[in-house]
Amino acid sequence: MKKKSSQSKKTPKKKRATAKKTTTKKKSAKKKKRFLKKELEIYREKLLNLKDDLIKQIQEISDESLRKSQQEASGDISAYSLHLADRASDAYERDFNLGLVSAERKTIMEIDEALKRIDDNEYGFCQMCKKPIAKRRLDAIPYARYGTKCQKKIEEEQER
Ligand SMILES: [Zn+2]
Repeated sequence: MKKKSSQSKKTPKKKRATAKKTTTKKKSAKKKKRFLKKELEIYREKLLNLKDDLIKQIQEISDESLRKSQQEASGDISAYSLHLADRASDAYERDFNLGLVSAERKTIMEIDEALKRIDDNEYGFCQMCKKPIAKRRLDAIPYARYGTKCQKKIEEEQER
């Protein structure tokens, strides 16, 4: 049996790469990250749920208006004269519903924009002053484009 002696002692010290592994994934370094990925996913989820709800609501409203207009189309004249008052309120309701639907459509668009901002890593920043939007605000309105201050400014300008 041979004694291994001299050989094993001379293990050359491996130079360990002390430099940290640099992840070469493209990351726009200058952009400050507002949220963790996990948080963004929660917002995304919220936005998607909200969008689903809105789509359902629009669907319900248009189903109902369709049903009503079909009723009207097949309705007889006596019913018409008897329910003039009803019909007036129907018309009002229809206008109201139309307004509602367009408001909801607009919100859906805002949601889509917000989802895009998540993908672009711009979510959570005011589109006007580029400052972070308060988390509290985002929790209430996840599709908020502007911080409270800028939003107020915009609304004031619109009122003029
Ligand atoms: Zn702002």
